[in-house]
Amino acid sequence: MSHDPVTNAMLDLVRSQDPDIAHLIAAEGDRQASTIELIASENHVSPAVQHAMGTCLTNKYAEGYPGARYYGGCEFHDAIETIARERAKELFGCAFANVQPHSGAQANMAAFLATMDPGDTFASLVLKDGGHLSHGMKINFSGKFYTPVHYPLHYDAGHPEHERIDYDAVRTVCLEHKPCALLCGYSAYPRVINFARFREIADEVGAILIADVAHIAGLCATGVHPNPFPHAHVVTTTTHKTLRGPRGGLIMTNDEELAKKIDRSLFPGVQGGPLMHMIGAKAVAFAEALKPEFKAYCERVVENAQGLAKGLQARGYRITSGGTENHLMLVDLRTRDESLTGADAEVWLEAAGIITNKNGIPDDPRPPRVTSGLRLGSPAATTRGFGASEMDQIAGWIDRTLSAGGEAATTQQVREEVRELCGRFPIWGETVAG
Ligand SMILES: *Cc1c(COP(=O)(O)O)cnc(C)c1O
Repeated sequence: MSHDPVTNAMLDLVRSQDPDIAHLIAAEGDRQASTIELIASENHVSPAVQHAMGTCLTNKYAEGYPGARYYGGCEFHDAIETIARERAKELFGCAFANVQPHSGAQANMAAFLATMDPGDTFASLVLKDGGHLSHGMKINFSGKFYTPVHYPLHYDAGHPEHERIDYDAVRTVCLEHKPCALLCGYSAYPRVINFARFREIADEVGAILIADVAHIAGLCATGVHPNPFPHAHVVTTTTHKTLRGPRGGLIMTNDEELAKKIDRSLFPGVQGGPLMHMIGAKAVAFAEALKPEFKAYCERVVENAQGLAKGLQARGYRITSGGTENHLMLVDLRTRDESLTGADAEVWLEAAGIITNKNGIPDDPRPPRVTSGLRLGSPAATTRGFGASEMDQIAGWIDRTLSAGGEAATTQQVREEVRELCGRFPIWGETVAG
């Protein structure tokens, strides 16, 4: 085990109070250092972001907003939250930002509360087609308190738009159901989203357009993917995926009336006191994202995803929709081996040191706990410095591991090669476990 000196000092302190948890934190650090993270929603935050989280800011109650708090002693918290808001606005080029959501799902809950009444109808993409739990699943608040209707993907093998958003169908669904809100932005969609087209449809039926850019926020903020502004009325996002900040959420708008409703909806509507240590860390991450290096990083994220997709295609795997234009892809495992499932592939790859998640592919005949697909993403691998040759090497390791069907000798050999590569690409300059 070896971390940067600040982390080591922190761990020593934790160890003196709680050796069990200190041991597990160190083990997790080793795991991250020695494996390749391909989960599309994960990333490695910078040491500055990580350390901003572990500060005295957590001690303070700051219910309310800058200049209008319910507790005394918020002078520095006001300044921090104001800076975080200003940086978020600059990143996305919008007029209002609320940096308090504890998570992406909380951001969506506040956006819904601000734009709809209970029972109202909204249109979205269903989870199994690439949408999110909070976009109308029956087991989630969004499906319990509101009435979701779903628009389909284009599904017509051989058609150039196969497995992509079918904008004509979005319009048809909206004309039929007259939703109060139209949602775009997804968890497992590898193509560029046409926000302007979504806005046209929303305007035609009088719906509020909510763009949930949780996955692609970093790409949107740097112009590597089109910005949802000025098209979306409300933009929600997480801060911890491609944006590479601390775990949390963010809501933005250009509309002053909507901004007031969103603020009231989040607090006191959904949350109590804000996590001020996370808001401090968000501000640090936003400053990083405003630098030219972050744009270069986001460009490499897309190049690396495309490189990985090509490497897998060359080895006989079908990538849904024929490839990727962002940071993620869905691999149709059946095209390599009819009996291969996402569940098996995830477990075998983890044993080889390659961390992924099983994921349904469009029109997947298998249930969600099994699936026929893997979702792979490049944000974390790109942060640690991987480029084209490493992505092709990873495609080779994935194929070797899956072709061996989890057989121990091959898996172990790949595991050693993965460990060796990781040793040469320490995360943020940290050295790998010995
Ligand atoms: C990840 C994600 C969320 C939720 O984020 P949490 O922070 O996990 O609550 C919301 N919407 C989309 C599209 C996502 O991908």
